[in-house]
Amino acid sequence: MAIDRDATLRWIELFAAQIELHREQLVQLDAAIGDGDHGTNMNRGMQRSLEKLRATEQADPSAVLKTVAMTLISTVGGAAGPLYGTLLLALASGLAGHAEVDLPTYAAAWRASVDGVQARGGAQLGDKTMVDALVPAVDALEQATDLSAGLQAAAAAAEQGMLATTPLEARKGRASYLGERSVGHQDPGATSTYYLLESAAEAFAS
Ligand code: ADP
Ligand code: MG
Repeated sequence: MAIDRDATLRWIELFAAQIELHREQLVQLDAAIGDGDHGTNMNRGMQRSLEKLRATEQADPSAVLKTVAMTLISTVGGAAGPLYGTLLLALASGLAGHAEVDLPTYAAAWRASVDGVQARGGAQLGDKTMVDALVPAVDALEQATDLSAGLQAAAAAAEQGMLATTPLEARKGRASYLGERSVGHQDPGATSTYYLLESAAEAFAS
C-alpha cells in the first residue's frame, strides 16, 4: 500500500473522527493539568480542516497536509495549534512532489517534523508533552521495513509513550505551572498525538 492523496485524505478523516469521539476525554485530561480546551480546540480545527478539504481539490499528499496545517494554525490557538501546524507543515514539505510516498521518504519526513516540533516548543523526551508520543513513534517507523507494519508499530509506540506521561512531572507548556501536581495525569497532547498515529496505521493498512 502506498501513501497517495486519497489514503492521506482517509487518514485525516479518521483522525478528525477520533478527535470528535474523544473530545470530552481530551477536555477532561486538559482540565486536570491545563485549561480544559484541548478537546474543543482540536475538534474545531479538524472539523474546519474537513470543510476546507471538501471545498478544494488537493493535488497530492503534501497538499492535503498543508491545508490541514494552515487550518490548525489559524483555528486551534493555544500551544497545540502552532505545534500541530509545525508538525504537519514539515510533513507536507517532506512529501512535496510525491504523488505516492514510500516508507523511507515517509519516515524521513516524520523525523524532520518531530525535529521541527522540538525546535519550536523546546520539549525533550520526558517533559510530558506530545513529544513523548511522537519520538517513540518515529523511532519505530525508522526501524520498519514495511509501511503498514511500521505504522502499526509506530501507533503502539505512541500509545506506550502516551501512557508513560502519567507519572511524569510536566516541564513544558501550561501543565508545567503545576510542578509536582502534574504527576499522575496523562498528557492531553500526547493523547491526541496517539490518535494521529493510530489513525495513520488504520488509513495506511494493507
Ligand atoms: P494550551 O496549553 O495552550 O491550552 P492545548 O491545551 O491545546 O494548549 O495543548 C496542550 C498540549 O500541548 C499539552 O498537553 C502538550 O502535549 C502540548 N505542549 C504544550 N507545550 C508544549 C511544548 N513546548 N512542546 C511540545 N508540546 C507542548
Ligand atoms: Mg489547554
